[in-house]
Amino acid sequence: MKKVYMDYAATTPVKKEVLDEMMPYYTTHFGNPSSIHSFGRETRKAVDQARDRIAKTLGTKSDEIFFTGGGTESDNWAIKGVAYALKNKGNHIITTKVEHHAVLHTCQHLEKEGFEVTYLEVDEYGLINLEDLKKAIKDETILITIMYANNEIGTVQPIKEIGKIAKDNKIIFHSDAVQAYGSFPINVDELGLDLVSISAHKIYGPKGIGALYARRGTKIFPMIHGGAQERRRRAGTENIAGIVGFGKAAELANENIEAHNKKIITLRDQLINTLMEKIPYSKLNGHPTKRLPGNANISFEFIEGEALLLSLDMVGIAGSSGSACTSGSLDPSHVLMAIGLSHEIAHGSLRLTVGDFTTTEEVDYVIEQLPKIVDRLRQMSPLYEGVKGGNNNV
Ligand SMILES: *Cc1c(COP(=O)(O)O)cnc(C)c1O
Repeated sequence: MKKVYMDYAATTPVKKEVLDEMMPYYTTHFGNPSSIHSFGRETRKAVDQARDRIAKTLGTKSDEIFFTGGGTESDNWAIKGVAYALKNKGNHIITTKVEHHAVLHTCQHLEKEGFEVTYLEVDEYGLINLEDLKKAIKDETILITIMYANNEIGTVQPIKEIGKIAKDNKIIFHSDAVQAYGSFPINVDELGLDLVSISAHKIYGPKGIGALYARRGTKIFPMIHGGAQERRRRAGTENIAGIVGFGKAAELANENIEAHNKKIITLRDQLINTLMEKIPYSKLNGHPTKRLPGNANISFEFIEGEALLLSLDMVGIAGSSGSACTSGSLDPSHVLMAIGLSHEIAHGSLRLTVGDFTTTEEVDYVIEQLPKIVDRLRQMSPLYEGVKGGNNNV
């Protein structure tokens, strides 16, 4: 059977060039970088090189990059790390209603510990309002954490403007840039970022490895205690092969962002435009232009998203009905709720994300299959009955 992967926002395959660089660090180059001998020095050097590579992509110094176990850990560390370090200064955190659960659930946890969190509303496109942000700031505000680009609907926030507001008010600014990294050039000084979360497996690197950029002088409490690794901030023997793979993937992802985006945007727009044209009662979610190059998120009325995903899976198409974490639960996505969709319409949404290995043929296949499936599911929907048949009985 044909298999078409359109879930690049959930994870990506490891590129061959990346895996090739990683392999020796599982076998011959296995030393512990904390060891004094040549085996240790060899892996120490590899970790240093990967750190340099990642620092370069963010326009930072290597000693401001800390390796973690992924985007989730980086988000947890940034938020709890600042909260605990600055709790004597203030207890107020500002975030948004559309963050990834790694940020939202961390904030909710801190609320139970006595911190106060403001969850900013977003407009119909998923954008925050900068005036709302300014109004939310108080003397007790110690952290602003706002994602760079949304993993479900692809909307890109005005990061530079947020950075300026944070700086004017001397508040630490963290951004979950897991989706944006590799899709947009990120220079932490230009954008006014103090803390940035990134993850390897969203950019064709391995799973289970990420990093936190922390501006020099940013007060952040260590969350994992033990050895002196990561300059005493994040203990534990390093995931050397993962780090090496992350370094290579980061370099590749940041090499030719513009040319690369052009290709992906073409595929995405072909998908969005044709599906919207072919399928009545459909609506694009997220901002029409301020969005991730690979993200298409469309709601189809009178459809159940889970049924749609299953039908797509039967013809080999892999998509998502929201974020991977919410699939399988019956609660509609918090992001789709925040942009004002009704429960019914939120339930009928589909996220298709394209990436480096997506082909025009694959897009054509989805364009051929999806309208047929939507139509078939609608024929079975009692809600659709009244709409299509001239409403004789209404
Ligand atoms: C995938 C993702 C995460 C979590 O990263 P992991 O490396 O899978 O833990 C966090 N935030 C966003 C926006 C993501 O897309």
